Amino acid sequence: MDIQKILNEIYKEIKPHLGKGRVADYIPELAKANPKDFAMSVVTLDGKSYHIGEHKKRFSIQSISKVYTFTMALKMYSKKLYQRVGVEPSGTPFNSLVQLEYEKGKPRNPFINAGALVVTDSLITHYKDEFITLENILSFLRSTSHTPDININPYVAKSEMEHGYRNRALANLIKDFKNLDNDPLTVVETYSKQCAVEMNTDELATSTLFLANRGVDPISQKAYITPTQAKRINAVMLTCGHYDASGEFAFHVGLPGKSGVGGGIIAIVPGKMGICVYSPPLNEYGNSYVGTLALELFTTKTGLSIF
Ligand code: GLU
Repeated sequence: MDIQKILNEIYKEIKPHLGKGRVADYIPELAKANPKDFAMSVVTLDGKSYHIGEHKKRFSIQSISKVYTFTMALKMYSKKLYQRVGVEPSGTPFNSLVQLEYEKGKPRNPFINAGALVVTDSLITHYKDEFITLENILSFLRSTSHTPDININPYVAKSEMEHGYRNRALANLIKDFKNLDNDPLTVVETYSKQCAVEMNTDELATSTLFLANRGVDPISQKAYITPTQAKRINAVMLTCGHYDASGEFAFHVGLPGKSGVGGGIIAIVPGKMGICVYSPPLNEYGNSYVGTLALELFTTKTGLSIF
């Protein structure tokens, strides 16, 4: 299969759609993104990579970070983690409070904000300090992407903290239900910083390879997690990776994936490759409009969906 040729075709077909959707502005720093930016990278298990667009341009990974923190927590706590956070789709927006109240502080899954806050809290408890936690999140991202200079954009983190009242509300509610060990504000701050990490599509596609390869990084041969854990993470990405549009993403794209409000989406073809696409304007569910379209074109043209 000529992956580069397929990507070139996709580039041509998505061009008329660039700019459609709406760039996230509830974190003011994210509103500065160029709505016409686009990039897509495919990295295969043998380490070959294929790109279109601005694949060297870094962007805010936002909720894509939740995949990596969930992976770290699952490795530390194994099944015990599920006592604190479930694995069911929520059917609600990413920052919803209502369900959390009904369900007594146990978030539906690790990819809605409530669940991600519990996961980050579990990491802070493990490392005993929020700065050490962030250092470990960064080193995990650096190691899986084979890129030593991945960092947090402090302006994006600050901008989110200045406007993140809903995440504070979620953390306080979870604390009230005794499902948070640490100070809610510390947890929200750490979470906002993990979301403010910047990477490009090449780095992100590379960093998903261990998930496409039963837990083992095919480049370094390092086993990050067990095959069973990789299967579970991919399953949660498929069912919960796109908030209340997860069903639609499975329907149209048919791959485990995770989106972020920065406009990035990662996706995995098990046993074959990692993919990342970037285009800042979002659809009504908070997922990249053109990014979703590009992934749909990719699975249609290659036949590489999991179904
Ligand atoms: N940092 C963002 C928030 O919590 C992440 C949301 C997202 O990417 O979906 O609001």
